[in-house]
Amino acid sequence: MSSTPTPVLYDFTRQDASGSSCTAQAWAQVPPALQPAERATMKSRAAELLKARGAMLVAHYYVDGDLQDLALETGGIVADSLEMARFGRDHAAQTLVVAGVRFMGESAKILSPEKTVLMPDLEATCSLDLGCPPDQFTAFCDAHPDRTVVVYANTSAAVKARADWMVTSSCALAIVEHLKAQGQKILWAPDRHLGRYIQEQTGADMLLWNGACIVHDEFKGLELDLLRQQHPGALVLVHPESPQAVVAQADVVGSTSQLLKAVVDGTAPAYIVATDNGILHRMRQLAPGKRLIEAPTAGNSATCKSCAHCPWMAMNALQGLVACLEAGAGTARGAYEIHVPEPVRSQALGCIDRMLDFVRRNPAAVAQPAQRQVAGRGAGLVPGIGAA
Ligand code: SF4
Repeated sequence: MSSTPTPVLYDFTRQDASGSSCTAQAWAQVPPALQPAERATMKSRAAELLKARGAMLVAHYYVDGDLQDLALETGGIVADSLEMARFGRDHAAQTLVVAGVRFMGESAKILSPEKTVLMPDLEATCSLDLGCPPDQFTAFCDAHPDRTVVVYANTSAAVKARADWMVTSSCALAIVEHLKAQGQKILWAPDRHLGRYIQEQTGADMLLWNGACIVHDEFKGLELDLLRQQHPGALVLVHPESPQAVVAQADVVGSTSQLLKAVVDGTAPAYIVATDNGILHRMRQLAPGKRLIEAPTAGNSATCKSCAHCPWMAMNALQGLVACLEAGAGTARGAYEIHVPEPVRSQALGCIDRMLDFVRRNPAAVAQPAQRQVAGRGAGLVPGIGAA
């Protein structure tokens, strides 16, 4: 069994290309902030259009707070990628508007090919998706035919089509534990930090692709240590896409939903949060009065490609939402509509269905990762979440 992650060479060359695959270009494409009166007008226009089109807004925790509020006010959802996928599949609405990044829109379409899936900006992508080109990934899989292929949700439909399982950060640990118990060796892609964390927690034999999330990859262990010393009573909440030096200091490691639950259920007065700062909007709403401190991305090695906020999530705005709902049919709508051609769609469906079926059969196992103890830090530090 290989006990250490095995990287493959890949260095995000596509992020240096022109267009929104470059982070600087993505930031340049973020719509300008609206004045309060404009925001209110645009929000109410979007609500009217959602109703008129019978559309549901499915938003991720990292997008603009107005979009999150609007989703909840109009019967939609704000969630992590697992819940977004389930909600879109199960809701009766024939039009889904996915406020997030492209792989989330693709997952909705893969699960519901009969539905129209729109996005406020089709160019909103993800460094993990960009860092795992299907042709290179296929060659990697072909070179290791003895391994079960497990991919993170943050991948293209073509990469999912090559996978045996899809996982999200909510259920990755439980699924890898399940595969390990069956004696399977795993090929994991694309997030190297999440893969390493799961390998450490489960002891599974995992061969890792070398991708990273530009948001979580920027959190700094040294600076987090200094921040913790300034706030000794604060609990440290970390998304497992973060580097090892950051995860090692966590009181709670989990998906966005699990970190949100840790704040809501926790009795500590303060929380240091190491994930995209878009989640603070919902944390403040659900846990008013608790102090939320952003984990540091500063330091000598800082690049601030994201500064704790994803540029592609930031491309989602009220302006794009109204535009996609006003686009009508045909060519105009094509600028906002997700298509996943066959046979890629049906091939990708297999690994998503496998995950959803596992989650349905093992709901307790999927809730468990938020409660995990991190070596060197306290166990069960969040009352109401349960023992670690
Ligand atoms: S926050 Fe990271 S993982 Fe999420 S969409 Fe942005 S780059 Fe991808």
